[in-house]
Formats: sequence, C-alpha cells, structure tokens
Amino acid sequence: MTTETDLLPCPFCGSADAPRLENTHTASFWVSCSEEYGGCGAQASGQFFPGPSRLTRFCYDPEAPEGSTFYARTLGELHPEYRRSAKSAIAAWNRRANVAQQQGGRADGFAANRQKGE
Ligand SMILES: [Zn+2]
Repeated sequence: MTTETDLLPCPFCGSADAPRLENTHTASFWVSCSEEYGGCGAQASGQFFPGPSRLTRFCYDPEAPEGSTFYARTLGELHPEYRRSAKSAIAAWNRRANVAQQQGGRADGFAANRQKGE
C-alpha cells in the first residue's frame, strides 16, 4: 500500500521497517531509523515551521486510538505547520535514500534489498 508517509528503506542499514516519522511538541519532524524496530539510528531532519502554540494533534501516530486529541492518525489531521514539517522530513529522508541508491547503495543491506527485486 502506498501512502503519503511511505519511507524508503534506510540507506545505511537497509531496513524497510525501522524508519519512523517522529516529532515532539514542536512543528519539527524527523525520520529516524528506529533502534526500537531493529534500525541503526540514522536520522534525517525536516524543516521547522513556526505557528501558534498548540495543545492538540501535534504528534503523528498512525496507530493512535481513534478520536485522540493528542495524536493525528493521518498527516491531514495535523495542524498545517506540523504537516509541512512532517512532509519535509519525509522528503529529506527519501531524498537521501534515493541518492544512496543512485550511488550504488552505501550499505550492503540496501544493495541486497534492491537485487531481490530485480
Ligand atoms: Zn538504518
């Protein structure tokens, strides 16, 4: 399934599952190759977009309970400046993964994943 939050595999360790979109309480998002999900800890930061102080729906979590006022389950539920930051982080991560791919892959795992699909 292709979604707006699709993240390319990590260009360093090749993991397709570990890259996660993360943020705190500010309109600043980053993608992390989460060690919690077996990743290597690599990160790509998005841009910060200023906005008013927000108390609701500033975190993105597709698995949050429905009706949560704290988490947005889709990027569309985020406040605009948070959504822009989230998209910039996704773009930064995928841009780097694409560059690594074009250069033949920096990591063995990434190259191996590509070969499987060929
Ligand atoms: Zn990684």
